[in-house]
Amino acid sequence: MTTFDASPLAPSLLQAIQEMGYQKPTAIQTAAIHPILQGHDLIATAPTGTGKTAAFSLPLLHQLITDWQRPRELRTRALILSPTRELALQLHQTIEQLTAHIDLTPCLIHGGVPSAEQIRTLRPGTDLLIATPGRLIDLLHQKAIKLDETHHIVVDEADRMLDLGFAPDIRTLFEPLPTKRQALFFSATMPPEAQKLAQDILQKPITLQLETDDPFTTSIHHTLYYVEKNNKFALLEWVLNQHPQERTLIFCRTRRGADRLTDRMDRAGLSVAVLHGEKSQHLREERLEQFRNAEVPILISTDLAARGIHVDHISRVINFDLPSEAETFVHRIGRTARAGATGQAIHFCDPTEKKYLIDIEQSLSTELPISTEQPYHSEQIKHFKGSAQTGHRPDKKKSNTSKSTIPRWQLSSKQTQQLHAQKPKTAKRTNPKKK
Ligand code: AMP
Repeated sequence: MTTFDASPLAPSLLQAIQEMGYQKPTAIQTAAIHPILQGHDLIATAPTGTGKTAAFSLPLLHQLITDWQRPRELRTRALILSPTRELALQLHQTIEQLTAHIDLTPCLIHGGVPSAEQIRTLRPGTDLLIATPGRLIDLLHQKAIKLDETHHIVVDEADRMLDLGFAPDIRTLFEPLPTKRQALFFSATMPPEAQKLAQDILQKPITLQLETDDPFTTSIHHTLYYVEKNNKFALLEWVLNQHPQERTLIFCRTRRGADRLTDRMDRAGLSVAVLHGEKSQHLREERLEQFRNAEVPILISTDLAARGIHVDHISRVINFDLPSEAETFVHRIGRTARAGATGQAIHFCDPTEKKYLIDIEQSLSTELPISTEQPYHSEQIKHFKGSAQTGHRPDKKKSNTSKSTIPRWQLSSKQTQQLHAQKPKTAKRTNPKKK
């Protein structure tokens, strides 16, 4: 499928995607839409930012429209499970756009807000419900919703769900579903735990795996700066002054650190928003929206925003603090250079973070390019023995032998250029028959 027009999707959906500016399906959309339309269960592994939302939503909505039946009281015909409120909101926004010309309103429920309004919305029955697992289970226990007529279910960002400990909740939510159902399992990575869960809850699924690659051959340009801790803020100002208009996401390791940095930036007259778990849901949404619609060009965040949150055109990610885990590093940099764009990832490393840098470089079998062309460069950190194990930056050959547990799921530059043309690496059909 090289264009959407060649797909059997309903004209109202085609009109919506045209208005959203989608000209051609991305690789995961090309691979997933057809089997989903045929009614198969699916396990799809694809990097974030490659168009997964539309890959499952378009064929799902098509089925809901063509087989339209009024949902009964307390029932939902389709359910999309999302690990976090932010992602659920994002899914809801995209699906609202996709349903612009359809008489079908997606419904959203998540924790962190009172449930009375949600209960009222669910009562007459809904076509499509987007939910976080915790709140949905609460409402199930309160008998505010029943899943016995939910014939379509999507588990989005499954690996994240497992990280957050939602595996038992997902199993619980699958119990009341009818046997005749379609279940779709989307994940950026597929660790054994996720595979096991998928095997247990899906029925003869088709497996799609989008080709994965090294995060360091991508369209992300990396720069590492060695800087003493007390010079970090001055370096940040210097970096931001280089290209002031760029949409920038700055990561701090702790909530306090994020608040402190926000205060300093406010005092310096820079327009920033801050996002972290201690802020109320309402504030978090408001800040994200301000960043999304470019009211504020800089968002400071903890790792709350490292995964899954999609904001268009983030051209720069700055690790003001390096993360302590390589996996988080990969997720953070994945916020830029999405959907075929290019991006910059800038990493500050102070002496206390040298150990993290060494671990990240070892795990990812790479060496981040150091730039000394900055006013606060600290040569000592370069030679600092930050890790008890190695005491130096790993050389590439040596580190290649290290056992990396990091998923290599960023698109390579070639893949990124070919985002819309690329074929998935494997499109293994374990169930070639139509259900
Ligand atoms: P997702 O992986 O679903 O978060 O999508 C990542 C970004 O790609 C979002 O901004 C989508 O709006 C965008 N996108 C998804 N599908 C397409 C497409 N076929 N053409 C252009 N952009 C797309």
